[in-house]
Amino acid sequence: MPYDVLPIAERREFLYSWRMEIRKDHNLSKLNTFGVSANAKFFVKIANEADLGKLFNAPEFKKNKKLFLGGGSNVLFTKDFDGLVILNKLKGIEVLSEDSESVIIRCMGGEIWHDLVVFTVERGLWGIENLALIPGTVGAAPMQNIGAYGADLKNTLLNVEAFEISTGQKKIFTKEECELGYRDSIFKNKLKDRYFIFAITLKLSKKEKKNLTYKVLQEHLEKNKIKVKNSKHISDAVVDIRRSKLPDPKVIGNAGSFFKNVFVKPAELKKLQETYPDIPYFEEDEIIKIPTGWLIEQAGWKGKKAGNVGVHEKQALVLVNHGGAKGEEILILANKIIADVKEKFGLELMPEVNLI
Ligand SMILES: Cc1cc2nc3c(=O)[nH]c(=O)nc-3n(C[C@H](O)[C@H](O)[C@H](O)COP(=O)(O)OP(=O)(O)OC[C@H]3O[C@@H](n4cnc5c(N)ncnc54)[C@H](O)[C@@H]3O)c2cc1C
Repeated sequence: MPYDVLPIAERREFLYSWRMEIRKDHNLSKLNTFGVSANAKFFVKIANEADLGKLFNAPEFKKNKKLFLGGGSNVLFTKDFDGLVILNKLKGIEVLSEDSESVIIRCMGGEIWHDLVVFTVERGLWGIENLALIPGTVGAAPMQNIGAYGADLKNTLLNVEAFEISTGQKKIFTKEECELGYRDSIFKNKLKDRYFIFAITLKLSKKEKKNLTYKVLQEHLEKNKIKVKNSKHISDAVVDIRRSKLPDPKVIGNAGSFFKNVFVKPAELKKLQETYPDIPYFEEDEIIKIPTGWLIEQAGWKGKKAGNVGVHEKQALVLVNHGGAKGEEILILANKIIADVKEKFGLELMPEVNLI
């Protein structure tokens, strides 16, 4: 039985008997949602805190470059990884404190993000229900400040506990120190590849805090005559919408949105509107964003297939592996799309997915 579904007592027994083992030449095709085949020179799974200590002292860790991996839902392996891949399976969710208004929850980085959402909505807490069903782990969530349906991690995050990879020193980053932005954080920029995210702490509300700013969510609730009385009503709605709109990586390999939406200045938007009067845009935090899916569709790429890879027929932002594709093929497709959008609109697309 997999560790995740073991009852607590059996989990303890499992951890007691668990032995961290560094393997050689490990295939990663089942560990990335694109389903592309790539080998790691060394591979290890960490399942408890003691493993971390052992890991930091292991010669394979000291001598090689490292990649921490969660659910593999935001990576593209463009080639074999000539180093050590560390799969994070550190589990645990605990309530640190609560008062009449809020609850502080600490969650280990190897927990599945959606399991944390379920944990909170089952307790009637508000704050991360709009982020239901985002694939991947809790530890990767601060990396790109995960967001969906009008919310992002920033709304509830208090701090991030991380280990400096070069020294093994633990540091607690406040939310401000994480420099969270649109699908961005300090861990993708200044501190790229420098920290392992061990755990995060969130502040959730006991009081109703509905976030229905996202139009698609509002429309879904109205259409299905759903009266939101608790946070689970919202997470259930988000789950339904996501299941109907997004391709399931178990069926067709993908990593969700491959590119970020594009930011433009008001003058740039005005200029684009002269040629494309119907260009869609939206404003968030006083930033104008153009939906990249629309740009890719206008450039003629929606639903296109190129060998084993392609652009999803319903979601132009999603690049897919039709079966047997190499990461390199997906990268070539992405670069063609970037070039075409640049030529047609003069806009630069930025990948959201981490290219390895
Ligand atoms: C179908 C689909 C839909 C998606 N929808 C959304 C969405 O709505 N919103 C959204 O924001 N994202 C979305 N994503 C992207 C993805 O789910 C998130 O980025 C998620 O947080 C990735 O988690 P992961 O554990 O799979 O990360 P991985 O893919 O394993 O890793 C991503 C990056 O983070 C690093 N990393 C992972 N764990 C750690 C750690 N503990 N410490 C340090 N570095 C680490 C990795 O080295 C890598 O660079 C979607 C993906 C898919 C496949």
